[in-house]
Amino acid sequence: MDNFISDLPFIKLPTEKQKILIVDDDTSILDLLDHFLQRKGFDCKCAENGKKALELLEASPFTIVITDLIMPQIDGMELLKIVKESWPDTDVIVMTGYTKNFTYTDVIRAGASDFVQKPFTLDEIEAKLQRLIKERQLRHTLKRLSVRDGLTDLFNRRFFDHKLKEEVTRALRQKYPLYLLLLDIDKFKEVNDMQGHQEGDKVLVTLADTLKSSTRDHVDLLFRFGGDEFAVLIPYASEDQAVAIAERIRSNFLNKVSSDVTISMGLAKIDPSLKDPEKTKKKLFLDADEALYSAKKDGGNKLVIKGSHTTKD
Ligand code: C2E
Ligand code: C2E
Ligand code: MG
Repeated sequence: MDNFISDLPFIKLPTEKQKILIVDDDTSILDLLDHFLQRKGFDCKCAENGKKALELLEASPFTIVITDLIMPQIDGMELLKIVKESWPDTDVIVMTGYTKNFTYTDVIRAGASDFVQKPFTLDEIEAKLQRLIKERQLRHTLKRLSVRDGLTDLFNRRFFDHKLKEEVTRALRQKYPLYLLLLDIDKFKEVNDMQGHQEGDKVLVTLADTLKSSTRDHVDLLFRFGGDEFAVLIPYASEDQAVAIAERIRSNFLNKVSSDVTISMGLAKIDPSLKDPEKTKKKLFLDADEALYSAKKDGGNKLVIKGSHTTKD
């Protein structure tokens, strides 16, 4: 699986620094684990009780918490529940002595990722940590694969549906404009038929790269729906600004692409009077789609803005 993943150039493995929090009321265990894990290159912090652990977690999140089970006040089981509720992405390993208060099943059911019995060996701790880190990377990779389009690395159609709802809800609540730009490559079928699928794929990747280099990272959201259809969500822009972005995309694409391929675009803005996010979302998509259809019908290579009678050639 590892080889398979690293063979795919668009998959970036996470480079997160592994921050580990060790919690135990026995300071000799804290010292032992702290020294050992620091030596292994982990970034560690120690807490001698649950309260201190929560303070450290509040200050900055940890990737993994290793906690003792039996401690005064907040015990390991309670700490585990709080961590899984407030920091669901943090993995927890529970350590316990010979007490039989909780079984392995109890702690796993409560959300722990693993369990070690005291006395443990340091090798055992290291092996368990390495396995957890591998699992975290795999989870990250799978999540990435499930929301991205394989050819272009843009977000996929499924994620569009999810993101559109989120962005529409936020724009309505915060009362700011949101634009949806739909893009479609003109006569893409001809490119594929005349020049072959490899050339077709190159044009798709060129458009995706143009979208990436012409819009703001972490602000505008880019999608490929499959085929030659793409979308850009542009939050917090005026119509002039959204049009300028669309035109920047079109002219950058025309400069980059070798053959005489062109694109059509349809632009629409959310209608806040509908209030309901579900209806607003549907209308936004229909409006942008209608504008795109008009651009196509009008010969392509242009932008049509829904609601205004402007078209830009
Ligand atoms: P401008 O290019 O005329 O853009 C005017 C405003 O349109 C920007 O104001 C911003 O609110 C919006 N805007 C433009 N392009 C984008 C975009 O790709 N995505 C989103 N979400 N909004 C966009 P702002 O931020 O005050 O910028 C003022 C001016 O500063 C811009 O005028 C431009 O001349 C320059 N500028 C800002 N960021 C960049 C950048 O990353 N690259 C370049 N080349 N110029 C930039
Ligand atoms: P970015 O914000 O992800 O923007 C990527 C590209 O989108 C920019 O590449 C530019 O081609 C286009 N773009 C984004 N916003 C604007 C805008 O307001 N006006 C125009 N005309 N184009 C825009 P560029 O210019 O090579 O910039 C690369 C990166 O450098 C940007 O990535 C951003 O992180 C930073 N940057 C450039 N200019 C500014 C600026 O004026 N203000 C800020 N805060 N960052 C800037
Ligand atoms: Mg104890």
